[in-house]
Parts: sequence; structure tokens; C-alpha cells
Amino acid sequence: MPFTIESIREHFPVLHQEVHGKPLIYLDNAATTQKPKQVLEALNSYYAHDNANIHRGAHALADRATRKYENTRTMVGSFINAKEEAEIIFTKGTTESINLVASTFGRKFIQKGDEVIISTMEHHSNIVPWQMLCEANGAVLRVIPISNSGEIILEEFEKLLSPKAKLVSIVHASNSLGTINPVKAIINRAHAVGAKVLLDGAQSTSHLEIDVQDLDCDFLAFSAHKLYGPTGLGVLYGKREILEQMPPYQGGGEMIKEVTFAKTTYNEIPFKFEAGTPNIADVIAFGEALNFISGLTKPLIKAHEDSLLAYAVELTSKIKGFIPVGTAKEKVSVLSFNINGMHPFDVGVMLDAKGIAVRTGHHCTQPLMQRFGIEGTVRASFAVYNTKSEVEKFAESVERIAKIKNK
Ligand code: PMP
Repeated sequence: MPFTIESIREHFPVLHQEVHGKPLIYLDNAATTQKPKQVLEALNSYYAHDNANIHRGAHALADRATRKYENTRTMVGSFINAKEEAEIIFTKGTTESINLVASTFGRKFIQKGDEVIISTMEHHSNIVPWQMLCEANGAVLRVIPISNSGEIILEEFEKLLSPKAKLVSIVHASNSLGTINPVKAIINRAHAVGAKVLLDGAQSTSHLEIDVQDLDCDFLAFSAHKLYGPTGLGVLYGKREILEQMPPYQGGGEMIKEVTFAKTTYNEIPFKFEAGTPNIADVIAFGEALNFISGLTKPLIKAHEDSLLAYAVELTSKIKGFIPVGTAKEKVSVLSFNINGMHPFDVGVMLDAKGIAVRTGHHCTQPLMQRFGIEGTVRASFAVYNTKSEVEKFAESVERIAKIKNK
């Protein structure tokens, strides 16, 4: 596919609309990305032609649906370079993927007095499941501090590492700050004390090339809807040897080998972790989202998004009263900020009136906001279909809004 933004934008029907009488400028991509036509068509086509339950039907439709569903699993496997597709489990999203690990790996391998290490910049979905686990089994949650620029302090992380640490669960790229964490160094150090590592890839998988074998992470969690795919669908990658040792998550159909009233034996991975009828249509449509990304290639996507972020930083840095939050060296395309004297929500509403969609608030990272002593931020986040001219309109609008309180 030729990499012109106009041709890319043609794939996204939702972008071609007006909001409050202004052309939509969608800069809320860290919350969810828009979906290309191929994804919408795949959803429609599945229900129009192939709808059937998978894995157990003896008829043509069931066979077709099963092959398409399993084909996406294979595609996800190569998308993150997993050793084998059995290491790919479909879930509802990053949140469920992390909860799955907390409930099953956590239940079996994390005991009273053991430690789980997270960082200050985690999303609530990578805090609360560990708090729940620690509350239930008497394990201890440790938190890595971060610097004023929003970067993990590796020396402080090292101080927290000991044989008590059983799991390090860390965000790959922060949804609130954009910081890309040095996950390879974190994984190496964690493995040196015998701890396993889960990466929250909700924000990294759409921007960065991910190779789970090279990273050597034990788990990777991410969501399809932040990758130009459907909502309500996510992935948990886990190394085979660990997944095999973990007890099942939910009980029901599909996840069993044999059931008697006396005893149940469980299916092989990944099916052991996919109880019940899965989200067949969305999994199939997700395959099209992955095709879309592969067609553009991640390095080109990242280069375009980096140039948008750099331009936004350049323009907004001249604005009186503009306070950036999160100034790490390595970032995905997230610009979080406050305007001196203004509530982030008010800034968001004023931008919306100009047709500009941003996120405001704590972004499900309340402890991070507490670290910076703020209630929240305004967050603009860029995707492959955003343009330089959109960044200019955004910066002009922010400047006009900032002038209200910063003459
Ligand atoms: N982690 C991070 C870093 C996120 O940005 C998000 C989504 N905002 C999540 C986890 C949770 O993802 P989901 O709501 O799709 O489960």
C-alpha cells in the first residue's frame, strides 16, 4: 500500500464527518483507534456468510468460521513473533489478559510473603488485579518510582529485586505519558532473580515492532481495539512452559478434554484458557486490522507518528501557560499536558467545540497523577491517519484556549 496519508484516511469512514460543524480531528487514539473499512467489511461478511460456532461443527460454515478464527491466531503469533500459535490466547482485552494471569499464575505461583513489582505509571488494570491477589494471598505489592520526566528509575527497580519477587508486571508504553520503558533491561534484571515478567502492551503494540522471543517476556497483554481492530477483544501471549503449568481461568465448554462428575481433565493450550463460545466475528475482523498494519509496516507508522508528535511538541512549547506532563526521551505519540489555571476537562470541552477529540482526566492512572500532584491532564494521541495540518489546528486551538488565562 502506498504510504500517503490521504490514501490511508480513505480506509477510515469515521474520519470523514463534521463534529459541531467542524471537520473531525480525532486525537484520542490512545483510548481507541478508528477501524479501517477492511475490518468493518470482515465483520459484516462473517455474519452474512460464515456465522457458525467454531471447533465443534460438522458442517461447512463451522469449518469456515473455525479456519478463519484460527487463521487470526496464527497472524497474531507472527505479529509478535511467538514461537507457536498455541501461545496466543484470545481474551476480552488487556484488562482480562492481566486478570487471567493474576488469577491463574498468581494463584499457583505467588504465595504469602512473595512480591509483585509494578511501576508508578501503571494503568489501573495493571494495579488492581495485583492488589486483589495480594489481599487474597498475603503477597506484597512493590512499586518502582519514576523521575520527573516520567521515566522508570532503573537503580530503584534493582533495589526492589530479590528472590521474593515472583512477577514484574510493567507497562511497555505509558498511556498517560507516552514513555517507552526499557523493557529489555527490566526483563533481564527480573529474570536474574527468577521473577517472571508480564508486559502491558496496550499502547506499544500499535506503534512498536514487538518480538516476544527477542524481548524474552513471559507474558504480553494487549487489546485489538487500540490496533485498528474491534472492541471487546484482546490477546494474552504466554510462554508455553508457563501456560502449561497454570491452572485454567474459567470453567466451561471448549476448555475441557473430558468431563465426568468425578473429574474433569483440561484441554491443551490455548483452548484451556478459552472457555465458552469466543468472540468469533471480532477475532476474524482483527485479522484484517493486522493485515492493514502489516501493509504499512510498523517502522513507517512509527516514523510518521514520531514526526507528528515532534511537530506538536514544537508548536505547543511556544504557548504561554502550556505545561507538558511526561517528557521522556523515548515516547510513543502521546502528548499529555495542562494549561496553567484551567481544568483539563474544560480544555477538552473547548477543543471538542472545534471538532478536536482528546481525552481528559486521570486516564485510569490515578497513582501516576498523584505522583505529579495533579488531578489529570489533557491528552492528545496520534495515529497513522493523523496529519500535520490537524496538528496545526490542534496547536492553534490550544493556544487560543490558553490565552484565556495566560495573557
Ligand atoms: N493498559 C494500558 C496502558 C492502557 O492504555 C489500557 C487502555 N486504556 C489498558 C491497559 C486496558 O485496556 P482495555 O480497556 O482494552 O482492557
